[in-house]
Amino acid sequence: MPNGDDTGRPILVLSNRLPFTVERRPRGLEKRHSAGGLVAALEPALCARGGTWVGWPGTELRPGEHLSSGGKPYRIAPVNLTDTDVDRYYHGFSNRTLWPLLHSFPALTRFDQRDFMSYERVNDRFAEAALAESKDTDLVWVHDYHLMLAPRLIRQGRPDVRLGFFLHVPFPPYDIFRLLPWDRQLLRGMLACDLIGFHVHGYARNFIDCVERRLGARVDQENLLVEHGDRTVQVGAYPIGIDFERFEGLASAAPARAGRRERVVLGVDRLDYTKGIPHRIRAFERLLELHPRHRENVVLLQLAVPSRAQVAEYRELKRDIDELVGRVNGRFATATWSPIRYLYRTLTPDRLTALYRDADVALITPLRDGMNLVAKEYVACQVEDPGVLVLSQLAGAAETMREAILVNPYDIDGTAEALHRALTMDEAERRSRMAALRRRERRDDVVSWTRSFLDAAASAHAALRPPSDEEFSAWLGRYLSRHRLALFLDYDGTLVPLCEHPRDAVLAEDVRETLRLVAARPDTDVAIVSGRSQADIRQMVGLPELIYAGNHGLEIVGADVPEFKHQDLVHYQGRTAELARKLRTLAADGAWVEEKGHTLTFHVRAVPEPRRRVLAEQARSMINDFGFQARDAHAAIEARPPIGWDKGRAVLHVLRERYGVSWSETVRVVYCGDDETDEDAFRLLAGLAVTFRVGSADTMSAATRRLPNVEAVHALLRWLARRPAPDL
Ligand code: UDP
Repeated sequence: MPNGDDTGRPILVLSNRLPFTVERRPRGLEKRHSAGGLVAALEPALCARGGTWVGWPGTELRPGEHLSSGGKPYRIAPVNLTDTDVDRYYHGFSNRTLWPLLHSFPALTRFDQRDFMSYERVNDRFAEAALAESKDTDLVWVHDYHLMLAPRLIRQGRPDVRLGFFLHVPFPPYDIFRLLPWDRQLLRGMLACDLIGFHVHGYARNFIDCVERRLGARVDQENLLVEHGDRTVQVGAYPIGIDFERFEGLASAAPARAGRRERVVLGVDRLDYTKGIPHRIRAFERLLELHPRHRENVVLLQLAVPSRAQVAEYRELKRDIDELVGRVNGRFATATWSPIRYLYRTLTPDRLTALYRDADVALITPLRDGMNLVAKEYVACQVEDPGVLVLSQLAGAAETMREAILVNPYDIDGTAEALHRALTMDEAERRSRMAALRRRERRDDVVSWTRSFLDAAASAHAALRPPSDEEFSAWLGRYLSRHRLALFLDYDGTLVPLCEHPRDAVLAEDVRETLRLVAARPDTDVAIVSGRSQADIRQMVGLPELIYAGNHGLEIVGADVPEFKHQDLVHYQGRTAELARKLRTLAADGAWVEEKGHTLTFHVRAVPEPRRRVLAEQARSMINDFGFQARDAHAAIEARPPIGWDKGRAVLHVLRERYGVSWSETVRVVYCGDDETDEDAFRLLAGLAVTFRVGSADTMSAATRRLPNVEAVHALLRWLARRPAPDL
């Protein structure tokens, strides 16, 4: 049985920070072990299984300086960041772009192309460091929003490795995430994984929604699956827990509270705008207004841990809080009592746990929080007379901590009333609620989280079922319900699988029959748009009733469309043959030149790497030097005369000729294609058609949706053949 923390092969962990921070002192480098939740989660697994932790040490290492894990049974692979990287990748893109956006604070989000470029470069470096360490591992676990692009490069270097990603912050709804100019790159980066974990189901759903709508990927909302290239990605909710026993132990051992027993409402947060500290102070002020009996009897003890002071928004927030605390204290304080005790510092674990233990109420009201560990730590520390947890509905923790008093932190009056209820709750209710909360957190602790994620990552093999009629109906049913259909299909890689030699790419008889049925419908026209010559493609398909656009649309023939040959072709007669002669001088090691009349293809499929890349590069230069256009195709380079024409323009030409200039009023357009030359059509037809990019390439596409393979196109054709007749 796979087990996340005590058996199994070594694992490779990537996170922005190493499990310690390095500081440069006069005596040399000094390491400070981090006590954060991530270290508590991962160190036991790394210690049990061995492996490597890849991360930034927090200080720029000089040449020759090395780091060890300090006697721990796993390796450390530091990723060095320059001051500029720290500024742009870390403070910039990670903390001024992704942090606010992922927490649904678009107004605080800064978009800067240079920050993103730095983020890309640093993610590349993390991936390279991981690949250098990945020899004896088959499981890589990438953490958090700093490293959303790294999985893709790791996948390219290690196609077979099991790759997991966990996001420790929220994932926002589509309407927010798409504000990011680089949203598609980030989604694609994450989708290189086998398993993508979030704290709660809602974030997983948001992610899948973005993937479907922004990348056109096929998804299974119910089973949380995404089809990406030739792999299926499992998405899931894995709510993180804490080291319950450690907190419980610290709370039991911490010194007893001395001094006057006023009732304490506790807030503990990093000083961050997502935590809702000003809202909380206002809610406490409102409590004192609405329920004067709490004056002089209750204090709000707010601990704010200094954070990200390099970012302007954080400095402004600090000023606002200072001011607000001053105002409320000035308004209500008496000679012997101040309503708010405000600490701006970090506390040691024993002092923090003592505060947790002794607080009558924990008021934890983030405006948005991935999980919120403070809520869980408070619960673990309730070892004596139990207190009450008042928790924001907008924290991930609220999904499971149902016995807390849940509040909307934006509702100041509501929060004040909830606080009053917490302060006046009888002991029986307090005990029942806290016992249930403690039972769950003890069971679902951090070790259980690590184990369940690693087990799922090792075993994620679910595959999305092939596209079904229901899916086609959902995608196209309404779109086609009142119009004729003009269906455009590429041939190689779309209707037939790609072959070693173009002559072997023969259309299967049953597919030809389906095509015939689709074209025979009075409400449907079918056109084949191919890089092959018009004569060749017509012969390969063998259905005279279709329209054929050959040589990427430079020549068009077919039913009800006047024969077309681009007028500029006359200038290039003879030139194409001349280029073919030149290209043939490169045709060695299995490379060969296909002459298609007006265009050429230099095929390199049979050439072994790395020779293949060299030959393709030489062919590309030769074509460009000759004044023709070189375009990448599948294991081939296409050469076309420099005429401003492509598959997209050919499609518009057919639509105009066949249905008139107002074609969009009478006809709906569907286009399927599998390669870069089809992207011209996807781009031109954006908003004018439903387009499908076929195949497993994880390149970015302008198509509306993706289909995994040729079989899926055949299924689409079968659905198109028998779909309900439109109401014309
Ligand atoms: N914390 C700390 N020192 C302090 C106060 C808090 O190390 O003086 C820790 C706290 O124990 C908790 C973490 O900071 O583990 C905050 O985690 P949470 O998930 O609540 O919020 P985040 O800071 O990750 O947004």
